[in-house]
Amino acid sequence: MTSNRRTFAIISHPDAGKTTLTEKLLLQGGAIHQAGAVKARGEARRARSDWMKIEQQRGISVTSSVMTFEKQYDGETITFNLLDTPGHEDFSEDTYRTLTAVDSAIMVIDAAKGIEPQTRKLFEVCRLRNVPIITFVNKVDREGRDPFETLDEVADMLALDVSPQMWPIGMGGLFEGLLDFRTEEVARVEGGSKDYLGKRDALADSSIPENYEEEYQLAQAGYPEFDLEAYRNGDLTPVYFGSALKNLGVEELIDAIARYAPPPRPQPAGEEKIGPEYGEVTGFIFKVQANMDPNHRDRIAFMRQVSGTFKRGMKLTPSGLGKPIAVHSPILFFAQDREIADTAEPGDIIGIPNHGTLRVGDTLSEKDTVRFTGLPNFAPEILRRIQLKDPTKTKQLRKALDDLSEEGVIQVFYPEIGGSSIVGVVGQLQLDVLISRLGAEYKVDAALEASPFATARWLKGSDKALRDFERFNQGNLAKDRDGDLVFMAKSPWDVGYQEEKNPELTFSATKER
Ligand code: GDP
Repeated sequence: MTSNRRTFAIISHPDAGKTTLTEKLLLQGGAIHQAGAVKARGEARRARSDWMKIEQQRGISVTSSVMTFEKQYDGETITFNLLDTPGHEDFSEDTYRTLTAVDSAIMVIDAAKGIEPQTRKLFEVCRLRNVPIITFVNKVDREGRDPFETLDEVADMLALDVSPQMWPIGMGGLFEGLLDFRTEEVARVEGGSKDYLGKRDALADSSIPENYEEEYQLAQAGYPEFDLEAYRNGDLTPVYFGSALKNLGVEELIDAIARYAPPPRPQPAGEEKIGPEYGEVTGFIFKVQANMDPNHRDRIAFMRQVSGTFKRGMKLTPSGLGKPIAVHSPILFFAQDREIADTAEPGDIIGIPNHGTLRVGDTLSEKDTVRFTGLPNFAPEILRRIQLKDPTKTKQLRKALDDLSEEGVIQVFYPEIGGSSIVGVVGQLQLDVLISRLGAEYKVDAALEASPFATARWLKGSDKALRDFERFNQGNLAKDRDGDLVFMAKSPWDVGYQEEKNPELTFSATKER
């Protein structure tokens, strides 16, 4: 049986149109009934919680969520799970983890701007994991680049075969609509404001200006044909053109996901790969989010289900904990509302309310037989000492740092010498979130101070080698939240120097739990 789940994310540079496209995808799927609802919902949520003011001020999306919608294809229901990735580059760690939970991605490019830095970074993450990509060149209703130029840029910059599936007819003031190569239909825009009212003509009957004919024949002849296997291997990207704003090309895009995007893929668990047909329910936590409901101090752990059929009330054992937890009120994230799930399938995302039992990177399984791998912590690029303003709040601070590191907002390091904890992040924004949440949620007034360290490396080696190293470098050693030994380096050079001096130790820039 092939699965009807399509679990995907949208990757893009800020302003390319991710939010607008998300809205339109949900509209097409009948999940929301009003354009604008995605933003409106975001605003309502923001207004509820204090620390999210940062998000509001900066106009960026710090939190990420899951949206599910359905559509019928040939009498079959396809369920789409769209995972929202935070748009800001500071949250690359969070974004990375979200991309570990999808089976494919849509890459949105602004027709006038081409590949931008954030698009490229996110693309590289997808490539690392062979996540197949469908490209959507957005904003073709405006004056943009020559489509050939955009295609060649994608091919050259990303070293990827491109296969156009649609073609814009004209551009800017001369824009007439889109030609779909597969159906040979033209989706036409009308009137001075170039609106799309759902009108399609067969190419043969349409009155496309003749000079375009040559262009799209060239477009079809000049690039490889679509090849499902090459796409699924991450070697080729089908390219769709459209306008999220005008809802043009969106239906074709959804069709492409339904038709081509892979069903739930096997996930790495050490040497093995665990596929949907594995004999028990398994999944992994890729995100933990606090405060979705400020009335309850609950936290939601997001589990990507990998195998089995989940039923409400089922007992699952988190890796490392040893004893099972009963999942009584799992949550599926439909676009309108949170809904209680009774069952879930591989590819689905389940929200599991908990009070800090579940951490990012944890595996959940019925029989505790599996450990999914590949959800790393990254070596921090910014390290700060945290100073309490009120010394009686030590305990609260420790609790807060534990909580926030479990959520993956920060990493915390406890130096072997010297009292104050060191906080490590990949981007500055995480520090702003930290200070704001410490005050708002934990009533802890704290300040961040410079630390002498520039980065950190996880240490591995024999007990003896570690002990020897420890003897001479205690001032540069700390324990992370799991008690693992970490070398705190004053500079990248420092890391190289110590690596050379201590060949029996490994200095790792990532840590997989
Ligand atoms: P995000 O930052 O990627 O989520 O981008 P948004 O969806 O917020 O869009 C950024 C801006 O581009 C907004 O002003 C949108 O109205 C506009 N926009 C999005 N899609 C289109 C499109 O297809 N055509 C035009 N002309 N504008 C668009």
